[in-house]
Amino acid sequence: MDRVGQIPDRHLSDEQRMMRETCQRYVDAVLRPFIADNREREWTFTDPAHRLPPGILEEADKAGIRTLGVPEEYGGISLDPATEAQTFSIIATEISRGDTGLADKLVQNWKIAILLRELAPKHLQDELFTAYMADPQYLMAHCLTEPRGASDRWLPYNVPEAAMATRAVHEDGYWRIDGRKQFISNGYDASLYIVYANTDPSVGIIDGTSSFIVPRDTPGLEVTRCNETVGGRYMNNGEIVFEDCRVPDDHLLAHNNAMRAARTYFRPGKIIVAAKNLGVGIAAFDDTATFVQERVQGGKVIIKHQAVAIRIAAMAMKLEAVSALLQRAAIAVDHDEPDAGALCDMVKVFASQEILQVCQHAVELHGGYGAMLEMGIEKYLRDASVYLHVDATSDVASFKIVKELFPATAGTYAGSE
Ligand SMILES: Cc1cc2nc3c(=O)[nH]c(=O)nc-3n(C[C@H](O)[C@H](O)[C@H](O)COP(=O)(O)OP(=O)(O)OC[C@H]3O[C@@H](n4cnc5c(N)ncnc54)[C@H](O)[C@@H]3O)c2cc1C
Repeated sequence: MDRVGQIPDRHLSDEQRMMRETCQRYVDAVLRPFIADNREREWTFTDPAHRLPPGILEEADKAGIRTLGVPEEYGGISLDPATEAQTFSIIATEISRGDTGLADKLVQNWKIAILLRELAPKHLQDELFTAYMADPQYLMAHCLTEPRGASDRWLPYNVPEAAMATRAVHEDGYWRIDGRKQFISNGYDASLYIVYANTDPSVGIIDGTSSFIVPRDTPGLEVTRCNETVGGRYMNNGEIVFEDCRVPDDHLLAHNNAMRAARTYFRPGKIIVAAKNLGVGIAAFDDTATFVQERVQGGKVIIKHQAVAIRIAAMAMKLEAVSALLQRAAIAVDHDEPDAGALCDMVKVFASQEILQVCQHAVELHGGYGAMLEMGIEKYLRDASVYLHVDATSDVASFKIVKELFPATAGTYAGSE
């Protein structure tokens, strides 16, 4: 049998096979050993800046994994555009098999690199990609969520009173940004922020939101906290405040059209979220498969007990089902098919529910070891739980599926899109 939850090598392109092998080597030689050696430290580190030793990102850089999405003219690695979402999904699954927090860090960089590639003016791409390539610790963050809530912009609830609270006002040759963003991946230690702000309070979020490039050292930008999270703890999730934060005119990425312009970010983004989630499930399955074939109770290895075997079968089926839907959705994105949006939401929701159960089975089948930090099994359950919330909650993403399936009725909810 091929590896459970993974597309077999023979179905991959040369590029995909090569990328997966590269990631596999990095995960097995660098990432998994680090995670295994630092299980307790995950809970005792106090300074977020020192959670992850610099060597982890340096090794990712050497392997060519960090600079995906950066155009080749700057030294980055461009994937075949015809299969880009599919390949990203394979890569993200593999990295997340090692650690989902580290995968979060890298994934944000890849997605924002693509956004900059698509939307940023050439002279800023020259400047930003050059800086990014020179520093393996360079991280980027995508700032949408605010204290007032994120579901309204995922649905989207497209009425003026539900617009972004963060405002950007055009003044003489610059934009002034005021507001607050929270729950932002890489938010604590990013060097570059993509910030969404309201620029037309008379309309809804779709036509009144603009996006901006804001380097970390811009006066008026302050990182105010690093959030302690239940899972994905090697990614520093943060909160950022903007007060009279001024960026030049050319730092405007998309004017009053940022939510539509970010389509290149959101759709592959949901594929990658589901892929990372799958990686957690595969790791939980692999560890559990080893354990149940070694642990003896009732005079035999526990996999020979039928109740245990049935749970292992359930885990394998769930992983294969997520993997199949993921592949279907990724192909739809790569081909820009009309149902791509609905499929992206389907796989995000489905993966979050199924993988959480896979991880629950893993904890249960390990008995008491399932709860012990030293085994790392409880970590999978914690990491999987975070996926219920990222890139929209399950309920909100489910409603988006219905909106896509029934545009004439559910689709008209909360204003035009
Ligand atoms: C680990 C992590 C990383 C994240 N990274 C980022 C990031 O990089 N950038 C970023 O911008 N954001 C990020 N987020 C934020 C994430 O997108 C939001 O937390 C998520 O979309 C939910 O928004 P909320 O927390 O404001 O909850 P709310 O929107 O307040 O939702 C609360 C509850 O109300 C329900 N609800 C809301 N509206 C409706 C409705 N109309 N009908 C029915 N039920 C509804 C929701 O389903 C949920 O159960 C991250 C979050 C986490 C946990």
